[in-house]
Amino acid sequence: MSEITNRFATGAPQNLEERFASRAAHMKPSEIRSLFAVASRPEIVSLAGGMPNLSAFPMSMMADVVQKLVLTNGAEALQYGSGQGHPKLREQICEVMALEGIRANPDDVLVTTGSQQALDLISRIFIDPGDVVLAEAPSYVGALGTFHQYEASVIHVETDNDGLVPQGLRDAIKSVRAAGRKIKFLYMIPNYQNPSGVLLPAERRTEILNICREAGIFVVEDNPYGLLGFDKPSPNAMRAEDSENVIYLGTFSKTIAPGLRVGWALVPPSLKEKLVIASESSILCPSNFAQLTISSYLAEQPWRDQIASFCDLYKTRRDAMLESLDEYFPTTAKWTKPGGGFYVWVSLPPEIDTTALMPKAIVAKVAYVPGTAFYADGFGSWSLRLSYCYPTPERIRVGVKALGEVIKTEMLRRGSNQLS
Ligand code: PMP
Repeated sequence: MSEITNRFATGAPQNLEERFASRAAHMKPSEIRSLFAVASRPEIVSLAGGMPNLSAFPMSMMADVVQKLVLTNGAEALQYGSGQGHPKLREQICEVMALEGIRANPDDVLVTTGSQQALDLISRIFIDPGDVVLAEAPSYVGALGTFHQYEASVIHVETDNDGLVPQGLRDAIKSVRAAGRKIKFLYMIPNYQNPSGVLLPAERRTEILNICREAGIFVVEDNPYGLLGFDKPSPNAMRAEDSENVIYLGTFSKTIAPGLRVGWALVPPSLKEKLVIASESSILCPSNFAQLTISSYLAEQPWRDQIASFCDLYKTRRDAMLESLDEYFPTTAKWTKPGGGFYVWVSLPPEIDTTALMPKAIVAKVAYVPGTAFYADGFGSWSLRLSYCYPTPERIRVGVKALGEVIKTEMLRRGSNQLS
C-alpha cells in the first residue's frame, strides 16, 4: 500500500489548513490589529486608533446608572432578552435618530453588538462569493475586512473633498454591470468619513440615493460620527430621505462608550426577518445588561450635553492636529480638514510608501495607519490616516512633529527637492 493510501486508510489527521472551511482562508488579521500592539506602547504617540476619548466621560454618573439598574431591575438586565433588541431601547434609538431627520418605527430597528455586528449580518445575508460591493475610495477598514471574509469583491468609487462623486458611482455601476457582475450594495459613511473625515453635502446625498434607487442597489449608510459635528449639525441622514432602499447603521460607541458594544441597524421592513434570524444564530440576543445600561443612561442623564462636551474636546484636538500639520509637514503633503469625527486623511508625494515608512515612525515614537489599509485593492500607498480623538493636544503636536520629520527625512533620502 502506498504511503498516501495508507494515510487515508488509517484515518491519519490532515494538516490544519485542510481542516478549515475554505472561507477561513479569507480571515486575515487586519493591518490595524497588528499595528495596535506597537501603537499602544506608552512611549508611542498613537495617531492610529479610533478610540473615543473617555477621559471626558462622567464615570460616576455611569456608576450610578449601573448600580440603580442592577438593584432595581437586575433580574431583567442579567437575563436573556429579545433577539431583535429591547423594545424600550429601540424606541429611544428612534429618538436619537430623529436628531438627524429620521422618522422610524422601533419595529424596524435591530439592536446589534456594535455596528460591526450589523456589517457582518448584512454581509451574511447579501454576499455570495464574487459579488460586488461598492465602497468609497478609501473606506472603513473594519467593513472591508468583513466584506472580504464573505468573499465579496469590493470596487471603490471615486471621492473628492465632498465625499463620493455621483458621476463616479454611475460609471462604476455601468462598468461592473457591463462585466456581467452582481452589485449587492453601496457601503458608505456620509458623515465625517472613516478614514477621510469628509462630509457628504445634502445635494449629493439626494443624487446618490436617486442613482441607487434607479439601479436597484441598496445603500448601507454607516453613521457612527453624525452627531459629532463641531461647528454645525450634519445634513439629514440619507435614511431620512429614503426608507425603502437604505439600510442605516448606528452605534453608541462614539457618543457613549464602545465597551458597552451597543449598535443598531434600521432596516427596510422587507429585510428585518432575515437579519433577526441571522443575528439570533450568532448571539441569540444582544446583551440586555448593556442595552438597559444605555437605556437608563439616555432616560436619566443629560446625554445631549455630554455629546456636546465630547464635540468640544474633539474640536480642540482637531485644531491642534491641523495647526501642527501646517507647521511640521512638507507643503507637498495634502490633508483633509474635517468638520467633525475623528480623522484626517493625508496624501504624500507618490514616491513615499507609508507602509514601508511605519518602522521609522515607530522609532520616532509615533504611529499612524498606512493608507493601503483602507483600500481593498492595494491602492493608497502614499496616504495615511491620522486620528486626533485620543491623545492630548500636546501629545498630538509632539506626534505630528515627529512624523513630519520622518517624512521630510524620507523625502530628502529620495532626492525630493520640494520639502518646504
Ligand atoms: N463603522 C465605522 C465607520 C467605524 O468607524 C466603526 C468603529 N471604528 C464601526 C463601524 C464599528 O463600530 P462599533 O462596532 O463599535 O459600533
